[in-house]
Amino acid sequence: TRQNSDPQEPPRRNDWRWHQRSSVLSEWDIPYEELEIQDLIGAGRFGRVFKGKWHGDVAIKVFNIETDNDLQLASFKTEVSMFRKTRHENLVLFMGACMKLPHLAIVTSLCKGKTLYDTVRDRRETLNMSRIVNIATQIAQGMGYLHAREILHKDLKSKNIFLENGKVVITDFGLFSVTKLIQYGERKDDTLAIPPGWLPYLAPEVITSLRATSQYTDSDLPFSQASDVYAFGTVWYELLVGDLPFKTQPAESIIWQVGKGLRQSPSNVQSRDAKDILMQCWKTQPDKRPQFSHLTQTLDRLPRKRLTRSPSTPLHLSRSAES
Ligand code: ATP
Repeated sequence: TRQNSDPQEPPRRNDWRWHQRSSVLSEWDIPYEELEIQDLIGAGRFGRVFKGKWHGDVAIKVFNIETDNDLQLASFKTEVSMFRKTRHENLVLFMGACMKLPHLAIVTSLCKGKTLYDTVRDRRETLNMSRIVNIATQIAQGMGYLHAREILHKDLKSKNIFLENGKVVITDFGLFSVTKLIQYGERKDDTLAIPPGWLPYLAPEVITSLRATSQYTDSDLPFSQASDVYAFGTVWYELLVGDLPFKTQPAESIIWQVGKGLRQSPSNVQSRDAKDILMQCWKTQPDKRPQFSHLTQTLDRLPRKRLTRSPSTPLHLSRSAES
C-alpha cells in the first residue's frame, strides 16, 4: 500500500510507486515490434548495442536482465525515467524505451562519429590545444547540465564520449546501477571483478569503497557530483597526454596509489594552468573539487596558445594537492 512503501527501497511490481512510474513512462514506450534491429555495434557490461531503424537511424541498447529480478527491473525503469529529463546538445538524445519483458531496451540517437577514446589515440588526429579546450568545455557543459538536473553520470569516460563534426555527445549517463547489478549478480565467487580501464576514472572515495562481493548495488559506492568531476579530470588527462594514467599498472597498484593520494602528473605538458585543472579535479577531498559550472569558466580563461600537448606518456607521480 501507499503507506507501507519504504522510500529508501526501490519500488517492486506490486508497489504503488511501480505503477505510478510506469504510467509516467508510457509516453516513452516503444513497442519492440516497431524496432528494426540491424548490425551489432558492440557489447558492453550490461548487454548489446545494435544499429537499428525507428523513424530513422537509432542505437538500440538491449539489456540482459533476469526476468524475475525485481530490483533490476526497478533500476532499469528508474534509469529510463532519468533519461527522459535530459535535453542538451552535448547529451545523446533519448528517444524511448522498450519496457515489456522480455525485451528491455533503450533507444537513442545513433552517434556516427568516433569516440574520444579512439580520437585521442589516433596519431592522424591533430588535436591542438584550442580543440582540446573546446572539447573539454563541451563535456563540462553537458555534465553541468546533468548535475543541474540532479543526475549523476557515474561512468564518465572517453569511451562514453563521441565526437561528431566537432560536437561532443556524452552517452551512457545514469546506466551504472543497471550495469553493475548485472555484472555482480552474475558472479559466483567473492573476488573483486574490475572491468578493464575503469579504475583510472574512479575517485579515491569510490576506489576505497570497492569490496569483493557478489551482491554489489549502486548504493554501495559513494558516487557524487564530485566523483563525476574526478572522472572528468581523467578525461582531461587523456586529452592532454593521449592515454590513461597508470596505464601499465596492475589494479592493486592503482588502488594503493590513489588511496595514498598519489596521482600521475602530465609532466610533458608545459602549462601550469592545464595541470592546475587536473589537480583540482583529482583532489582527494570531494568537496574541494570544482563544480562543472566553475570548470567551464576556468577553461574559457585558459591561454590556449601557450599550451602544448604532450607527445608521450609521462611517468611522474605527484601528491594530490589539498591546498
Ligand atoms: P561498458 O559496458 O564498460 O560501458 P562500452 O562502453 O564499450 O563498455 P556499451 O556502452 O554497451 O559498452 O557500448 C557498446 C558499443 O556500442 C561501444 O562500441 C559504443 O561505442 C557503442 N555505442 C554505444 N552507444 C552508442 C550510440 N548511441 N551510438 C553509436 N554507438 C554507440
